[in-house]
Amino acid sequence: MGEIILEIKNLRKNYADVLALDSLSLTVEKGQIFGLLGPNGSGKTTTLAILLGALNATSGSFSWFGNGTKDDNRKNIGALLETPNFYPYLNAVDNLIVVAKIKGMTDYMGRIEEVLRRVNLWERKTSRFRTFSLGMKQRLAIASALLNNPDVMVLDEPTNGLDPLGITEMRNLILEIAEEGKTIIIASHILDEIEKICTHVAILRKGKLLEVGPLNQIMSQEQLFLVKAVDLSALKSVIDDLLDMHFVREIDGELLISSGLSEAANVNRLFAEKGIYLSGLREYRKNLETIFLEIVEA
Ligand code: ADP
Ligand code: MG
Repeated sequence: MGEIILEIKNLRKNYADVLALDSLSLTVEKGQIFGLLGPNGSGKTTTLAILLGALNATSGSFSWFGNGTKDDNRKNIGALLETPNFYPYLNAVDNLIVVAKIKGMTDYMGRIEEVLRRVNLWERKTSRFRTFSLGMKQRLAIASALLNNPDVMVLDEPTNGLDPLGITEMRNLILEIAEEGKTIIIASHILDEIEKICTHVAILRKGKLLEVGPLNQIMSQEQLFLVKAVDLSALKSVIDDLLDMHFVREIDGELLISSGLSEAANVNRLFAEKGIYLSGLREYRKNLETIFLEIVEA
């Protein structure tokens, strides 16, 4: 097991009568890109706000770097939590100088150049913040979070509101930052975003943890197949008789099934042995998508 960066135990948060977080437990290890996935209102922002000390939990505990909740930890965590706020009339460099001073840094000009280059804004260093696109504003916020070179980056919906190019740029930037050895925790309601960059994922629905683990493990627990037959109800009725075969849902006249079998040919044979001849059989994308459908449809 790798070095533990964050450990959350039974974290719970009530806002008056809303239970936003219901006994969340998970562990993040060094070097992971850890995705918190869930629809709007599932408790992602609440979790991050608690972890960053901006909100108190109702009960439960968490510990950064094995140090509990020491104030000092915060210096080692860069965060992008909401639409970034900078001085509109100051340029990129001057805004970062303000941040560097707030962070108590000295000799920061070299580092400012480094982080602006890192987020691809060095060419625009003298443009005023108010002239930036949303994607540039988000990247400046990442630069700001990187200034004092923290070990961990916490990002809440970093691609929210960005156009496709902005999304791709942000995604690549996150991957590059991870390659430098930083641990990244990213909250998103977009499956695609999590799937494309995360190594690990926790799936939340209504404040409850549905699944947690390495992305490839969650995606490949079982193989999924879409099957159809002339007599759909006969097909449906044999599925649950078959060992290792489970009905998941019906999608446009086809049945989604999960199976311990990985070969389509074997699935075909099992049905044939039950007297069902499939008129359609194909592999379906793996489990993360089904879990995702479950959370967004619930
Ligand atoms: P997410 O980030 O996954 O969209 P949030 O953590 O923002 O979810 O919200 C989780 C739940 O808590 C939602 O039901 C939301 O309405 C509720 N909630 C969030 N912030 C507050 C607040 N300040 N007061 C009352 N309810 C809140
Ligand atoms: Mg949120």
